Amino acid sequence: MKRAELPSPNHDDRNGAAVDMLVLHYTGMPTAQGALDRLCDPVAKVSAHYTVDEDGTIYAMVPEARRAWHAGVAWWAGDTDINARSIGIELVNPGHAFGYRPFAEPQIAALITLCHGILLRHPIPSARVLGHSDVAPARKDDPGELFPWERLAKAGIGLWPVSQDSNLGIEALCRYGYDPGAGAEKIVTAFQRHFRPAKVDGVWDRESARLLASLLQKTGC
Ligand SMILES: [Zn+2]
Repeated sequence: MKRAELPSPNHDDRNGAAVDMLVLHYTGMPTAQGALDRLCDPVAKVSAHYTVDEDGTIYAMVPEARRAWHAGVAWWAGDTDINARSIGIELVNPGHAFGYRPFAEPQIAALITLCHGILLRHPIPSARVLGHSDVAPARKDDPGELFPWERLAKAGIGLWPVSQDSNLGIEALCRYGYDPGAGAEKIVTAFQRHFRPAKVDGVWDRESARLLASLLQKTGC
């Protein structure tokens, strides 16, 4: 793991909001350099606190105390200013548009170390370690179904469900935090991308209900 400073000008004040979310992304651009340039471009007005390259290099771009601009129009559990209350991490990957591929081993190892530090510095509940597609299901697919959420959960970062007998309806997704305004198929798809990557079809089925029941139980919702 290598660490480099690559300051982005794209950030502003958190206006007193406490950090209680961690949002993971992929860059979704053909090259790492292209993504790093864009995240530092004042015209693009986007950024993240960190970007993790495929070789495990961590680029520190925005101080954690500042509000980085990574989530855009988003919604989780009733909150809309996700940037104000989150740390955002970009993972270099061309994404679905430019050749989505498995995340590299050194990249995930570096990400886990980075997240461990962030979780020590901020009180972020496990259920609030999320993907961009969780908080913007109508617009975003990242970090996508190849992201190893289960491995991160085993390392103490985020939640991973176990199947549990249940008949929960689709509306329970909103109890977990998903945006009721995004549309049923979009939020089911986002849920499956995160928690049931083996089958992402946007259809609310029994297994999805069983996995959600497990998550709701873990969080006491
Ligand atoms: Zn994103």
